[in-house]
Amino acid sequence: MERFGILRSDLITQMEYKVVIGLEIHSELKTESKMFCDCLNNPEVQEANVNVCPICMAQPGSLPVINQKAVDFVIKTGLALNCKIPDRAKFDRKNYFYPDLPKGYQISQYDLPLVLGGSLKINGQKIRITRIHLEEDTGKLIHPQGSNYSLVDYNRAGVPLMELVTEPDIESSQQARQFCEELQLILRYLDVSEANMEKGQMRCEVNISLKSEKGEMGTKVEIKNLNSFRAVERSIDYEIKRQAQVLDSGEEIIQETRGWDENKQKTFSQRVKEGSKDYRYFPEPDLPPLNNLSKASSELLSKIPELPQAKRIRFEQEYKIPVDDINILVSNKGLSDYFEQVVSELNTWLKIKSIDDKQPLIKLTVNYLLTELQKLLLDSKVSINDCKISPENFAEFITLIEQKEISSSAAQTVLKEMFETGVDPSNIVEEKSLKQVSDEGELDKIIKKVIKDNSKPVGDFKAGKENALQFLVGQVMAASRGQANPQIVEEILKKKLRK
Ligand code: ADP
Ligand code: ZN
Ligand code: MG
Repeated sequence: MERFGILRSDLITQMEYKVVIGLEIHSELKTESKMFCDCLNNPEVQEANVNVCPICMAQPGSLPVINQKAVDFVIKTGLALNCKIPDRAKFDRKNYFYPDLPKGYQISQYDLPLVLGGSLKINGQKIRITRIHLEEDTGKLIHPQGSNYSLVDYNRAGVPLMELVTEPDIESSQQARQFCEELQLILRYLDVSEANMEKGQMRCEVNISLKSEKGEMGTKVEIKNLNSFRAVERSIDYEIKRQAQVLDSGEEIIQETRGWDENKQKTFSQRVKEGSKDYRYFPEPDLPPLNNLSKASSELLSKIPELPQAKRIRFEQEYKIPVDDINILVSNKGLSDYFEQVVSELNTWLKIKSIDDKQPLIKLTVNYLLTELQKLLLDSKVSINDCKISPENFAEFITLIEQKEISSSAAQTVLKEMFETGVDPSNIVEEKSLKQVSDEGELDKIIKKVIKDNSKPVGDFKAGKENALQFLVGQVMAASRGQANPQIVEEILKKKLRK
């Protein structure tokens, strides 16, 4: 029972059960202030209990005020996911007691949420979205190790939190993971949430049950405290296996909430799930209902940027680059924007250098962006948005390589210098004498001298020792202080020695 390896859910489904998964995903919205007061919403703040006020601390007599920005962010998310925005929504109180909840209730939305019924396609399969609603986050409990008390930090209490609920349409752990990843990307494109799972800005809860091939829906179990995409995938794989074993042995699944133990890579029982009755929901008397939402949503529609799925399709048609490269580019909005700026700047250089075919330059751009530039960015922990290299300079750099004006090793030096200083590549090439010599006339003199000074290797090559040629190329490279174009040197040498 204890130690089984991870079993792929698709294997299990073929054997006996069909996997049924629905997700509930919370995201902290990137507003400047909290949901119902003007305290700062700063997830990076270190000191405890500095962003608090009578409203988010639930002092008697204080009244909440709706943060319009948060409402707009939820509607934007709904629009991006093909959802319906009803004309009217309202807030409700969800009552429960916990020390991280100052008011003793959470302001949330019950029967009239901001967003209803949409969908997101994952690998061509439609996952329906039930609803998206707006609520407030709780504070954080801290349990100092070895002590018999707990501390509470209310900086996060009252931060706007968006909850998205899917229908139970997801059929595997991989699909659940992909849904979470695609949603994260969309939230970042919309600029409504950083949605960083490790920082708790995006939190996924998985609902999972097994259905026998003939039978009806099984009892679901909810898994909480998943703080990485990997945990989402692995906890589902574990739970599929556990539930299959319970059912195989003729027992029943208990409807409960389970946690995920990252160290043991196992789910464990936390509590038997409470029904919604236990929360005694009722309309929030201190807040007005939200009216005329369809008007607001048609205004927001124009602010939805091109979304990742549309961008992938367009990139494929427009740039004709490999799908894997497109996926990497699109998974970072800043990087894909930068790529497109460089490609547009290439046009200028095509004219200046009278180049006809843009395609090889586009390919080279992708390669340098995804390898050399990514490496520099990662090593120095700089985001692409703060990169000192202007798209124009990057485009020029690419044409220098394509036109063989610099060698690939010189290109590395140039790129590093551009990255550090932002200087344009032609200046760097000039200053560091990195220009590659491809002119035959210029190379001829050096080559003649190398042939004259190296009669033994020359003789060897003529006698059929191919290796000797590389030695001679090396001599020419050294004599030119690395500036000769090695391919051209090799051609000239061959021509001369085979006469
Ligand atoms: P509850 O009232 O217990 O919170 P909901 O109907 O609100 O249940 O659904 C919560 C989540 O559980 C949704 O994401 C939904 O898709 C999912 N879900 C519902 N039924 C099942 C099931 N039988 N198996 C897996 N997930 C389910
Ligand atoms: Zn406050
Ligand atoms: Mg529910």
